[in-house]
Amino acid sequence: MKYLDEYRDPAAARRLVEAIRGLVTRPWNLMEVCGGQTHAIVRFGIDELLPEGVRLIHGPGCPVCVTPIELIDKAVAIAARPGVIFCSFGDMLRVPGSASDLFRVRSEGGDVRVVYSPLDAVRIAAENPGRQVVFFAVGFETTAPANALSVLEARRLGLANYSVLVSHVLVPPALEAVLGSPDRIVDGLLAAGHVCAVMGTEAYHPLAARHRVPIVVTAFEPLDLLQGIHMALRQLEEGRAEVENQYDRVVRPGGNPAARAVMDEVFRVADRAWRGIGVIPMSGLVLREAFAAFDAERVFEVEGVGGPESPHCRSGLVLQGLLKPQACPAFGTLCTPDNPLGATMVSGEGACAAYYRYRRHGLA
Ligand code: SF4
Repeated sequence: MKYLDEYRDPAAARRLVEAIRGLVTRPWNLMEVCGGQTHAIVRFGIDELLPEGVRLIHGPGCPVCVTPIELIDKAVAIAARPGVIFCSFGDMLRVPGSASDLFRVRSEGGDVRVVYSPLDAVRIAAENPGRQVVFFAVGFETTAPANALSVLEARRLGLANYSVLVSHVLVPPALEAVLGSPDRIVDGLLAAGHVCAVMGTEAYHPLAARHRVPIVVTAFEPLDLLQGIHMALRQLEEGRAEVENQYDRVVRPGGNPAARAVMDEVFRVADRAWRGIGVIPMSGLVLREAFAAFDAERVFEVEGVGGPESPHCRSGLVLQGLLKPQACPAFGTLCTPDNPLGATMVSGEGACAAYYRYRRHGLA
């Protein structure tokens, strides 16, 4: 298969592993930021190929996992209202709120629909003028442009029955929190390639300089990850702390200016709570005042909705790389994909889901 097999070539992977083994003189901790990278690492056993002492730490880059429980509860409350069509990407449906989830709302008669694009939700709104259509707009910088476009399209069509429940988060402020933490164990970072494809690499230079940490923008296939790991380790061994781009087949320093412009028109930066982690200053996007009519939180007045997290769930530590999923006492017992206590067990990019799927044999 063109454009896939070449990034999974076993002989090339062996050569990169050998190059990494020949490079490393001491232990290092690298954090891969993106949940998609975590799944590839665990699925292909990349962490198990590295020299002893080189550890991969899984980062906070799963957008479903970090959507605050309060917003899941608000989504549940809105979706349960009569007359509402609630649209979402599929992996949000099983994410547990404090008392319910969207899947249960649907099984109880709520009109919860899985869509593949926010523009599908706009179309549903145009086709159902007598009903309120809400799109659950979650994600990092990668999904924000399309979600912003949906708001602009709804305005262009004059739709008064379309709104978005916004839970957008930004990667650089989260990395600032990880790197600035007194508990920091991270020596180098593999930055998420798709985020940088939109936002470029400029935001990472001050981070690398301030925290003396190498940052390598990295893609998602096994050879990409091995190459990104090699580049980060080479910097560490040489005492450098720079931003390098392994994903230069896609990522440009300035990102995608058109996508950034659409985001900036519709959203502004604001403080945002991250599930399991807490509020990170200026780490999220909210609708600008000019688009208040499209803000589902205002349309449905769901202030004050929201309950507590499961006391058994350690996903905040997992998301900060401070705990491996299998070290959570609930992993595979109280918490499974069929009965998840935290979002990291159900999301397609969640670290707990990756270990459950590919490393369950390691259960005691
Ligand atoms: S295994 Fe389950 S309970 Fe433990 S951290 Fe992961 S999601 Fe939370």
